[in-house]
Amino acid sequence: MTTRVRFAPSPTGYLHIGSARTALFNYLFARHSGGKFLLRIEDTDLQRSTEESTRSILDGLKWLELEHDENIVYQSDNADKHREVALKLLNEGKAYRDFTPKEERSDKDVKEAIVERAREQKDMRDNSFRDLSKEESDAKADVGEPFAIRLKVAASGKTNFEDAVYGLQERDYSEIEDLVLLRSDSHPLYNLAVVCDDIEMRITHVIRGQDHLTNTHKQVLIYEALGAEKPIFGHLPLILAPNRGKLSKRKHGEVVSMTTYRDHGFVAAAFRNFLVLLGWSAGEEQEIYSIDELIEKFSLDHIHKNNAVFNFQENDPRHWTDDKALWMNAEYIRTMFLEDLIPLVKAELKSAKLWRDEYEDEDKIHFEKTVDLIRERFFTLKDFSSQGRAFFSEDFDFDPTAIAKNLKKFPDLQTWLPELADRLETVEDFTHDNLEAVIKKFTEERQTKFGVIMNGARMLLTGQAVGASMLTVFETLGREKSILRLRSQIAWNQ
Ligand code: GLU
Repeated sequence: MTTRVRFAPSPTGYLHIGSARTALFNYLFARHSGGKFLLRIEDTDLQRSTEESTRSILDGLKWLELEHDENIVYQSDNADKHREVALKLLNEGKAYRDFTPKEERSDKDVKEAIVERAREQKDMRDNSFRDLSKEESDAKADVGEPFAIRLKVAASGKTNFEDAVYGLQERDYSEIEDLVLLRSDSHPLYNLAVVCDDIEMRITHVIRGQDHLTNTHKQVLIYEALGAEKPIFGHLPLILAPNRGKLSKRKHGEVVSMTTYRDHGFVAAAFRNFLVLLGWSAGEEQEIYSIDELIEKFSLDHIHKNNAVFNFQENDPRHWTDDKALWMNAEYIRTMFLEDLIPLVKAELKSAKLWRDEYEDEDKIHFEKTVDLIRERFFTLKDFSSQGRAFFSEDFDFDPTAIAKNLKKFPDLQTWLPELADRLETVEDFTHDNLEAVIKKFTEERQTKFGVIMNGARMLLTGQAVGASMLTVFETLGREKSILRLRSQIAWNQ
């Protein structure tokens, strides 16, 4: 049997990190087993669903390269089918009409109070319409009394299913209310819609967050009432905030949104790699995986039971997201194939208005060499246009702390560095080894340290306190730019 899984987001906001992880696990599971990864947009909450949110979810999936199979299913298109199923259950006596006045039913507090009271009294079957005879119920409906349709949960028994991650799950019927399938305005409710669609889409495995566990028990009851075969359920550990509380869009904002990572210069493959480790590991030291390796290694039995923690520090810009995500991104930038990195750098330079077409033409080799040099120390693609700006523009900033520490602390540098420029004018081949010999000699003559000259030169050439080996920086920027910048007084005057 071909496995068929689905990712079923509700379009009520952007793609949240937890949902993205659910999508990724479903994707990997499908690809690993040669099955299908389907996408269903659960847009039945008409008040909260927006097209903008659907678009942002699709963008997020595209960015992560989690391509789905078949057509996207929009749950709202299936509302008629959901209604039919509710009516079928009603006709078969597996559901009943609840004529409780709408005000009472729709008032959330009242509803919760009723459920709470029922729970306390250990009687979830406390609904006077539950045992109405068919004739009485039909008669009320015939005269136009509004009703909701509720599932008639048996008085005693247990739901149970074998969860692929957490093992046997059971819940006593006495803990589950007679859930509403169809509201009195004939709007099908969530659990009914999900079960109907999963059956229709021939879903074999439902892989979703552990926060759906309570729903799953209710859904199991619907499968049973329909006499339909249940899929295999696999619940995923939660991703918690650093204080081990709930990680929420409302509370934590942008840090949980997928688009934030795209916009902050993350490499999609790196973020995907980070995400997969939030709740899964192959049981080995290795942490960096290509997508093909992930597909090969992914299995439900390596999903962790313990919740994962997404570590970030809300008030510290240096740790605005999980350090591991940043580390992973830096690893990817440093080690990925240059030909895969170049288009990403191009996009970044374009958006920063630093891109020049020569980089793909007469300057191609030089451009690629530059990217290869500076990527060593970068954490995000943004660094190419910020810290790396001096490699692509004459208009770059000088780090003020570094000016003080590496330049102004040594006033002699103000004459030495232009003198060094004169000396560099005479170097025949502007190469690493030649430069090293010339600069060493110059340093000795001035009776100073190589480091003092080099740190000062780095300031003037790149605006930064740290970076790639300075001799290579000279070589990469080339004679003309190096000399011009060593002579420049801009940094001195700041
Ligand atoms: N629409 C639900 C959500 O976004 C997921 C439903 C499911 O996976 O069954 O949380």
